[in-house]
Amino acid sequence: MQKMKQMYSGKAKSVYFTDQADYLILHFRNDTSAFDGEKVAQLDRKGEINNKFNAFIMQKLAQAGIPTHLERVLSDTESVVKKLKMIPIECVVRNIAAGSICRRLGVAEGLDLNPPTFEFFLKNDALHDPMINEYHIRSFGWATDEQVAKMKELTFKVNGVLQKLFADAGLLLVDYKLEFGLFRDQVVLGDEFSPDGCRLWDKETRKKLDKDRFRQGLGGVVEAYEEVAHRLGVDLSPL
Ligand code: ADP
Ligand code: UDP
Repeated sequence: MQKMKQMYSGKAKSVYFTDQADYLILHFRNDTSAFDGEKVAQLDRKGEINNKFNAFIMQKLAQAGIPTHLERVLSDTESVVKKLKMIPIECVVRNIAAGSICRRLGVAEGLDLNPPTFEFFLKNDALHDPMINEYHIRSFGWATDEQVAKMKELTFKVNGVLQKLFADAGLLLVDYKLEFGLFRDQVVLGDEFSPDGCRLWDKETRKKLDKDRFRQGLGGVVEAYEEVAHRLGVDLSPL
């Protein structure tokens, strides 16, 4: 497969066309950002860890019957994925309160959410990814009702698979964000699942092992990502 010109460069990944119209190459960079790009840094090895972490998780999800865009890992920092028509919406499930829900609703970090709660956000940096509801999605035509139902179903199905996977590694899956797109009209999980887009706490100590270490200046960001990868059994050795 031939890597062709760049299609898009985001805050953490670059996307390349390939010589096959249905496939793209995702390049996971070391760039890390928070607060809509206000805080940025280069974190050594992060791109490689997230590429391999993401592939590991996407394979587990595929085995559980969740359609994903991942085709194969191409290099330490690149993966081949199906080219999706992305739906500009972020789907967030929260098992424990943390981050923006605490600020918005005045609840304490660490509160168990039973049942887990679900939120939609519009993917729009200029507007700071505002929270939206299903009526907005319908009125503005961002997705059909059927696609919305599928995104919710798949996002909760991911919760069932990953809560168990992380629990077995001594980790709490606090919350996570998923992005979906369309491949030949099918709703498919795209983008990435890594500690950049979820919250993971040690089950016993509740130590943060995700991007909150970067957001909150706690240090040891990459070391935390590596620890999570090792606990799960992700192979981080060079390809
Ligand atoms: P951002 O755009 O938020 O800065 P990234 O740096 O992660 O985020 O950029 C990756 C971009 O690629 C995102 O906009 C994401 O929606 C998009 N993307 C992820 N997977 C696919 C895919 N399979 N097909 C097309 N676009 C994708
Ligand atoms: N998240 C993300 N990208 C975003 C916004 C949120 O990956 O643009 C993830 C974030 O890492 C967390 C979950 O979605 O795991 C919920 O994020 P929250 O709404 O609490 O926002 P935050 O306070 O993290 O900005």
